[in-house]
Amino acid sequence: MKTFHCVCGNTLYFENSMCLKCGRELGFIVEERFVGPIEPASESSWRSLDNGKLYRKCYNNTKYQVCNWLVPIDDENQYCVSCRLNHIIPNLTEERNLNLWYRIETAKRRLIYTLKGLGLPLLGRSQNNINGLAFQFMENESPVDEFDSNLSEHHHVMTGHTAGMITINIVEAEHSSREEIREKMNERYRTLIGHFRHESGHYYWQLLVSSDSQRLSDFRRLFGDERQNYNKALSHYYNKGPRYDWPDDCISAYASSHPWEDWAETWAHYLHMIDTLETAEDYGFVQVQSPQTSDTVTAPHSLRDLLLVWERLALGLNSLNRSLGLTDAYPFSITEPVAQKLQFIHTLIQDTVSSN
Ligand SMILES: [Zn+2]
Ligand SMILES: [Zn+2]
Ligand SMILES: [Zn+2]
Repeated sequence: MKTFHCVCGNTLYFENSMCLKCGRELGFIVEERFVGPIEPASESSWRSLDNGKLYRKCYNNTKYQVCNWLVPIDDENQYCVSCRLNHIIPNLTEERNLNLWYRIETAKRRLIYTLKGLGLPLLGRSQNNINGLAFQFMENESPVDEFDSNLSEHHHVMTGHTAGMITINIVEAEHSSREEIREKMNERYRTLIGHFRHESGHYYWQLLVSSDSQRLSDFRRLFGDERQNYNKALSHYYNKGPRYDWPDDCISAYASSHPWEDWAETWAHYLHMIDTLETAEDYGFVQVQSPQTSDTVTAPHSLRDLLLVWERLALGLNSLNRSLGLTDAYPFSITEPVAQKLQFIHTLIQDTVSSN
């Protein structure tokens, strides 16, 4: 992720909707991939001070202030390209849900930013009504207690993916609850953006891998045969724990539960790496971008080059966190089998982008 600049010189972040120095309103222009100041042009339109073009604010901005993306004035959709993917939003009669939703949308926009930056296809339900990408943000029906064993599956919203529909349990946006779940599940890392990246992996597996026999056989060679019973594998994982040797060839314990989960976990790590490298480069901490590229950090690089930079950066990040008394920012290690899985994803993305 890059940082941006206001006309007053102030540094702007991806999430900002107002400049804290000069008070100008801000918006994110999707096609140009930047946040910048805007000024009112008419009752319902805004002019970008960067490119002079006219936009409307996303409806989820004017109505709820949970989005800072702009919609080009000639686009009839009242929602920005991120918000128009929403199928179900949280129940806003519950006051606390508005804040949770804000966090959810912020993480989702970061995902969309990276996917678009990589040049991956992003088809919503309006373009593909069977497997198009969509999101639903739901809460447990009777949230007596997140760990209440009386909660039947019917009442418990499972974060997951089915045929393009990504479901996020909004409890994941509540820091204390998510941390409680993380500890209970014995995980090293659990974040909202991590959920979005992971679930998007399932979507892209279905879109890019499942229907291509060559890719499918390469996938099975690296990740295993996904035709093994998924529910059985998951319940084995939850009841018996991960296999003891998972660190040899998996990025996380959960990745060892089933080839689909291994894929989604590895995909999420690829996106963690891409976004963090872009941020680090923007701050001048690393150099990964070759002069001929304009935007994405992946295009001209071999994965091995990226990994070399990444491993050093991740060590530095962890050391910085330790200096501040915090836990490691990236508590993972990338073994050779994991690097090969990342290479598969890297190549798949490059092939997909170059064939589009
Ligand atoms: Zn400003
Ligand atoms: Zn929006
Ligand atoms: Zn999954």
